[in-house]
Amino acid sequence: MSLKEGKSKKIDGRLFAQEYLEKVLIPRCKIFKEVYKKLPKLSTILVGENPASESYLKLKGKFFTKLCVKSEVFRLPKETTEEELLEFINKQNNNDQIDGILVQVPLPSHINEDTIAESIAPSKDVEGLSPGNVHSWAKSLPNLVPATALGVLALLKYYKITIEGKHVVVVGRSMIVGKPVAHLLLKENATVTMCHSKSKPLEEYTRQADILIAAVGRPHLIKKGMIKDGAIVVDVGINFEDGKMMGDVDYDDLLETASYITPVPGGSGPATVCMLVSNLLLAFELNQAKRNEERLDCLRDYYGNYDTIGESGFCIG
Ligand code: NDP
Repeated sequence: MSLKEGKSKKIDGRLFAQEYLEKVLIPRCKIFKEVYKKLPKLSTILVGENPASESYLKLKGKFFTKLCVKSEVFRLPKETTEEELLEFINKQNNNDQIDGILVQVPLPSHINEDTIAESIAPSKDVEGLSPGNVHSWAKSLPNLVPATALGVLALLKYYKITIEGKHVVVVGRSMIVGKPVAHLLLKENATVTMCHSKSKPLEEYTRQADILIAAVGRPHLIKKGMIKDGAIVVDVGINFEDGKMMGDVDYDDLLETASYITPVPGGSGPATVCMLVSNLLLAFELNQAKRNEERLDCLRDYYGNYDTIGESGFCIG
């Protein structure tokens, strides 16, 4: 399926990623090399196989190569028990050479994702899902926030889309996407409605959205007639049908109705990877800081820079 041209403006995640890479991530890595004489290292853990995880890994690999950031991928068999995984993570928590840990979800059903998220050292939790980090983003305090949620906000800012006062409808209430997106957009003074599998009929809610965020995992769930004219649509979904990647939104179907829309691939995915790297750099910097004031400075700089996306262009302080 080719992505057609229509009335909508495409929210181009690749364009965003290229600029973010050049203007923010590469300069920050250069500074790190000069100041700390080393670069951060990420450890990614995969249990079993999942096509969405593989595509995310491929995208991440390209970024890491460009940045010279070190990344090691550990592939564990799908039979790995929860205890074995916890032990594996514990070793990584205690390994000084590793600055960030990412456990790719979904995990096999015999492993509890919450237990795993809680086992990652908060200072290495680049996914922002350990209890301390969840507490921070739920209270709108600066800290490590799930990368996909940050990516959604970054894309909206990059396209100078006003969030304040808008009605945002988020479809999907997971801890990794739906809930943190809702919190970030609430902090930006949007009015947020959250939908899930029991929100029926779904179109009654989605049609009210000025900004619709789809984070469900159902191919082309959002179709013509489900959004209002001029709505802004961000599709976070990554689904595979017959080996083809597709989002939760029927992009071609909404081209004449939406004012802005993200394609899949090439929308939210590249922005997520940018924000993951950004989180890794933040985790590294926070761990290098000796005193609490230095940590606070890092966070202030990081979120100060982040706020400038789309306003005065990217800035690295
Ligand atoms: P989860 O399965 O954890 O959550 C899915 C959510 O969608 C749940 O809240 C569920 O409701 C809701 N839901 C399911 N079916 C429907 C329906 N018919 N109508 C309305 N709501 C429904 O998924 P994730 O949040 O982890 O991921 C969502 C999607 O985003 C996936 O496609 C995933 O691959 C993708 N993803 C993309 C990333 C990116 O970088 N672009 C990063 C991470 C994920 P309930 O709670 O009631 O079960």
